[in-house]
Amino acid sequence: MYTFLNAAQIPVLAEVDILVIGSGSAGSTAALAAARSNYSVMLVERYGFPGGSSTQMLDTFYGFFTPGDAPKKVAGGIPDLIVDTLDALGEVFLRPNTYGAGTGVNYNPERLKNVWEQLLLQAGVKLLLHTTLVDVAEVGREQTTCVFWNKSGFYRIIARRVIDASGDADFCHLAGHAYELAGENEPAQSMTTTFRMSNVDLPKYEASGGKKMLMQKMKESVETGRHPLPRKEGSAHEMNAQKCISTVAVKVGDLRALNIEELTAAEIEGRRQAFIFERFFQQEVPGYEESNIIGLSHQIGVRETRRVYGNSRLSKEECMSGVVPTDTILLCGAPIEDHRKGASGEDETYWQYVPNFGAYGVPYGTIVPRASERHWVVGRCFSATHDAHASCRSMAQTMSMGQAAGLAAVQSLQKDESASGLNVPQLQDALLAIGAILAMPEQVADTSRNGWRKNNR
Ligand SMILES: Cc1cc2nc3c(=O)[nH]c(=O)nc-3n(C[C@H](O)[C@H](O)[C@H](O)COP(=O)(O)OP(=O)(O)OC[C@H]3O[C@@H](n4cnc5c(N)ncnc54)[C@H](O)[C@@H]3O)c2cc1C
Repeated sequence: MYTFLNAAQIPVLAEVDILVIGSGSAGSTAALAAARSNYSVMLVERYGFPGGSSTQMLDTFYGFFTPGDAPKKVAGGIPDLIVDTLDALGEVFLRPNTYGAGTGVNYNPERLKNVWEQLLLQAGVKLLLHTTLVDVAEVGREQTTCVFWNKSGFYRIIARRVIDASGDADFCHLAGHAYELAGENEPAQSMTTTFRMSNVDLPKYEASGGKKMLMQKMKESVETGRHPLPRKEGSAHEMNAQKCISTVAVKVGDLRALNIEELTAAEIEGRRQAFIFERFFQQEVPGYEESNIIGLSHQIGVRETRRVYGNSRLSKEECMSGVVPTDTILLCGAPIEDHRKGASGEDETYWQYVPNFGAYGVPYGTIVPRASERHWVVGRCFSATHDAHASCRSMAQTMSMGQAAGLAAVQSLQKDESASGLNVPQLQDALLAIGAILAMPEQVADTSRNGWRKNNR
């Protein structure tokens, strides 16, 4: 509790059964799962729209499919509902990608803002936007009291169960749960401002060599010094809008996202790099001559900050074993994709695949802060080592963590079980009942452009 806040004098805004903090892919899915019950669910978000990274900066869900030549679909349940809803609006296509992170599910992020909030409202979730968690006033036996700030002032929200989906584990930090700070043991992954460009002649780009040509041009530009690009690799891909592309190319390293001076510097540096890329694309890449930046990510993309210590901690060895333990709550087949500085000091991305392009199971204990009674932690601040986190952070997995935590919170209230003492087989039954995938499927998925429907109808 911060000493300058006198909690007793702060008005109580709500008393709820389940409080979810942060409406990213993990938090929104957690709230949707929890709302499949008679319990009251509140979802609180600091920005003016839901979705977190899924709508702030990205347009592709990774992690639904394993990479390689025989992709399997390894996520389902509420994550499917999100994509099905977008698909019904005609705003989804699969972007086949044999290696890399596997096949991506491409969507329109502006539409996704609307889809998240409509689904949340229909489910009966009380959504509060523009409201930031600033303190945890009390962690009691029966309830937790959180303090929020918004334009109306400071407010308390009292909850019987809390799911931290803030990405940065803000709740766990304030509630006293232990965590590892990115950068403490290994270098933290770099940050990226994503940007979108319009008026791109994609047929001309493809006819000129597409991605291979782009990589060559980037390399040449760096080596000749013609454009001071921050890296020699990076992706630019077609969007769900005519003649538009989206990029994950900017790279801002060596700055800490939880230090406000450094985060400010990172935002400024990210935008500076984006416009260096714009000039590079216009001058060097066939098809981009008449293109312009039309959008930058709402904030710089932060890959990791706090990783909470849970009852289990996902390790690189577990990821690379391809084993599915008995307390599995989701599968992940995504490779370790670690955006970092290489030994030579050069920026590079380190990739390591699950053997045979398989998948591993993520144990329930990774979403339960150590010995926690009534709190869960999901999304990019779940319990994992640096390497394991670099594999298990795609949005199909963060949504899957969210749905597990939402159902776990409901079960914990229904059965009067603690988060740590929860009956995991019962949670797994509930997950399977809503379509979660907890064992490697036999069937190879259709990852053609229109394959989503064929895999899911
Ligand atoms: C640059 C970049 C590119 C990536 N590319 C891909 C990709 O193409 N595909 C893919 O699947 N994954 C990708 N990832 C990984 C993926 O986006 C993230 O791991 C995932 O989105 C994290 O989801 P989350 O819900 O845990 O966190 P977030 O999406 O960060 O959501 C956290 C939410 O909590 C809110 N919040 C934070 N603090 C507070 C507070 N104190 N009070 C109230 N609200 C708060 C935030 O505003 C936000 O809405 C990428 C990540 C980055 C950074």
